[in-house]
Amino acid sequence: MELRGRVALVTGAASGIARATAILFAKSGAKVIVADGSTVGGMDTVRHIHANDGYADFIEVDVSQQAQVSHMVDSIIKTHTRVDILVNGAGILAYGTALETTEETWNRVISINLSGTYLCCRAVLSHMIAQKRGSIINIASTTGAHDACARAAAYVSSKGGVTLLSRAMAIDHAKQGIRVNVLCPGPTDTPMLRKAMTTDELEAFAKTFPMGRFGEPEEIANAALFLASDKASFVTGAVLCVDGGQTAEV
Ligand code: NAD
Repeated sequence: MELRGRVALVTGAASGIARATAILFAKSGAKVIVADGSTVGGMDTVRHIHANDGYADFIEVDVSQQAQVSHMVDSIIKTHTRVDILVNGAGILAYGTALETTEETWNRVISINLSGTYLCCRAVLSHMIAQKRGSIINIASTTGAHDACARAAAYVSSKGGVTLLSRAMAIDHAKQGIRVNVLCPGPTDTPMLRKAMTTDELEAFAKTFPMGRFGEPEEIANAALFLASDKASFVTGAVLCVDGGQTAEV
């Protein structure tokens, strides 16, 4: 029960990696706020947590909208008086070279993946500073952490931005008791990946990695739990790749 009594806001928790993280955090004793644009998926995560004797509330939010993000954090503070952990898991994937990426797609990817992360961090920071503690975990990606990949110009740009935004905040807020870390999953078996490729493509893609398989959302969530917990008390500004060896290969 590493997170007993902590209040954790997890965005994108209707699905995939953030859903697994919300479930694990609740199992570890946190009061979890499941935040997502999808009410159906978000409520499903909440019901799962309740069925396993955990605490969870759902808040519908579009993380790219400042007013909605502010309202979300205000309502958490009103109910719980604090927010100890933020996981920015909401994100979208778009493929295309810079030439193929329309301005509309570019703006959408940047506004959700990068600006959404910035807005949620900004909304919790003043509360965390007042508490003199807080742990922020921003989900970037192996593509965007160190390297790019073909035909994902907007996505890797957004994730590169998330990585450096996180490291900048880690430096700026370390003395205020706030830790900010970046979690970079390798390809992980979630609806995002399954929407992007056929089963045959997925199987062929998985074989190209050292472990020969994709990650499971729960394997990423385990790393998020470490970063959120006091076991990571000296860890800030880290870029933790959980990728089955993907980034070890040149
Ligand atoms: P997913 O599609 O399963 O879940 C993403 C969630 O984000 C969904 O519930 C969706 O409703 C929510 N969301 C999207 N836009 C939103 C918005 N504007 N406001 C609020 N919620 C919004 O995806 P996933 O694979 O679990 O990805 C989670 C994070 O991990 C993303 O940031 C993704 O880029 C990153 N990631 C995923 C992989 C992978 O292989 N699955 C690899 C590296 C990084």
